[in-house]
Amino acid sequence: MRSLPITISLPLLLTACVSNPLHESAADPQACKANPLAVQVMGSGGPIADDDRAGAGNIVWIDGKARVIVDTGPGSFLRHAEAGVEFQDPYVILLTHLHGDHAGGLPGLLNNGSFSGRKDPLIIAGPDGSENLPATSEFLDALIGAQGAFPYLSSYLDDAGPLPKITVRNINTRRDDVQAVSGLTDVTIEAISVHHLEVPSLAYVIRTKGKRLLFSGDQSFLSTGFVEATRNSKPDLMFMHNAISMADGQPRGLHRDGRSMGEAAASAGTKKLVLTHHMQRALDD
Ligand SMILES: [Zn+2]
Repeated sequence: MRSLPITISLPLLLTACVSNPLHESAADPQACKANPLAVQVMGSGGPIADDDRAGAGNIVWIDGKARVIVDTGPGSFLRHAEAGVEFQDPYVILLTHLHGDHAGGLPGLLNNGSFSGRKDPLIIAGPDGSENLPATSEFLDALIGAQGAFPYLSSYLDDAGPLPKITVRNINTRRDDVQAVSGLTDVTIEAISVHHLEVPSLAYVIRTKGKRLLFSGDQSFLSTGFVEATRNSKPDLMFMHNAISMADGQPRGLHRDGRSMGEAAASAGTKKLVLTHHMQRALDD
């Protein structure tokens, strides 16, 4: 039962309900989409395959459609099928950063999409690059560009060809302010740069139906700009990535420990905090 996605529904009421997939009555991974607004966790794992969690990924369901995808970790292909995600539905795929446990499932989803008959364009947004890491556009080129690893999917990136057009947005990770990603008719998306050692990384704020969802991504205690930008913003749901303790011998500057996550959530005035991106060494702590 642990392999099922976790359903967190946000009915248009004051309280969010959290269904526990370990409980028999919540065993239907396709129940989530029946809510007018819901977030469904596709993968709650981290980079180490030490249990049966898929890599990081979340879906925002709006009126029965999987409109926003946040991260596409390994295992996304299976989880999207279990949850009933249709490739025609997303407006945008948001990548928090280009580590394999967050973006490694993207080629499989795009390959799947080539069978979908989708005509509408799709936005993929993610961080700009650095000296050592590619920008999101370079990442897509390396995967599905004409000179990339899967060139048969390259018509996603050009105007000709049968596949729907993907518009790639590189978001500036050197800015401290809140940046608009997309102002769709029924959902507003903003990005905030976060500190994740040397990796250009982003948090995302998604606002729809009067609710505010904050996806913090992988971030360390050095993400002071994030704390400033989200102070007292009162997200209805905030997702933080649980990763490591600050015990001796643990790396610094990659992730927050439990205390630091709590402080960031409290500063934002978070109504409900969801911990995800788990590894055994963090869960044991
Ligand atoms: Zn990471």
